[in-house]
Amino acid sequence: MLHTHKLNELQVLLQQQRNIVITTHHKPDGDAMGSSLGLYNALLQLGHEVQVITPNDYGAFLHWMAGNATVIEFERETARATERLAAAELVFCLDFNDLKRVNELGDLILNSGVPTVMIDHHLDPPGFETYTFHNTAASSTCELIYDFLEAIQLKHLVNADVASCLYTGIMTDTGSFRFPATTPKVHRLVAELMEHGANHVFIHQAVYDQMSENVLRFLGHCFSQKLRVLPQYSTAYFMVSAEELEQYQLNTGETEGLVNYALNLQGMRFAALIIDRTKAVKMSFRSKGEVPANAFARQWFEGGGHFNAAGGQSSDSLERTEARFLEALEIFGPQYLLA
Ligand code: 5GP
Ligand code: MN
Repeated sequence: MLHTHKLNELQVLLQQQRNIVITTHHKPDGDAMGSSLGLYNALLQLGHEVQVITPNDYGAFLHWMAGNATVIEFERETARATERLAAAELVFCLDFNDLKRVNELGDLILNSGVPTVMIDHHLDPPGFETYTFHNTAASSTCELIYDFLEAIQLKHLVNADVASCLYTGIMTDTGSFRFPATTPKVHRLVAELMEHGANHVFIHQAVYDQMSENVLRFLGHCFSQKLRVLPQYSTAYFMVSAEELEQYQLNTGETEGLVNYALNLQGMRFAALIIDRTKAVKMSFRSKGEVPANAFARQWFEGGGHFNAAGGQSSDSLERTEARFLEALEIFGPQYLLA
């Protein structure tokens, strides 16, 4: 259900030129960058001063989007980002709902006392923000940006740049229009985005057909050497070491689709990727149907997320994390994964 708070006030606020910062979650994905740059390209047309600040870097397959060259990465340019944030009169927080998920950037936003707008589709928003546009039923934050622009009478700002950014996030967050949240409304919205100039052929190629040779060879290595299957729990997973990431010289975002392949395997209903990111072991979980991936992440790996797509982390070694994962499955499996 759509939940909004003080939209009328926000609509009035945006009628004057403002200094605006748009930010999104850690390691931004297609929906995070699509919604941020989509909103950026819309607000720019009203004469606002707009700056997108990401917590850190993101996949090169997203660098083609209009406005990408203006983005500041907080981790790389902390002083410049802090300066822009200090001047902001309004901060948009897109595709996340808890400032804890953006680390130091979140603390800065909170301590600055600047009004915030949260536009998001994740569960359980703690409610840090001044203005709200939240709907857990939405396919993506990009879908919500379109609804938001419509709600505050700014739909006319959707030009080809905005449409291309929003198409991207809807495409990536719906697994190319296949996940349950891909409603008839989403297809109608996508049709409108195409009418406004989103080129689906170009976008699919730009996002999905830019794999480097290293990545393809890494995937081959994972498929042949790293896949582990637990048929008794309809579960398959990959475990990747820091050495392997180093060996294949993988960049940010290049392991993103890997977990889905485990779920492609016939009969699987739960899949995981356990990956050693040096600072911590990061985990991705995906499920089909009535298997609550987010509950699993929350209960055992300090995480959360959507029902069928969630994540978490562990400060243990890779091997210890795998052992804990298997222990967790001994409890979770009989509850949710027995045929
Ligand atoms: P991914 O596997 O792509 O990193 O994350 C899948 C989904 O799970 C994302 O939509 C994200 O919101 C959520 N997620 C990933 N990691 C965490 C985490 O550590 N905590 C919470 N609460 N959610 C997470
Ligand atoms: Mn999203």
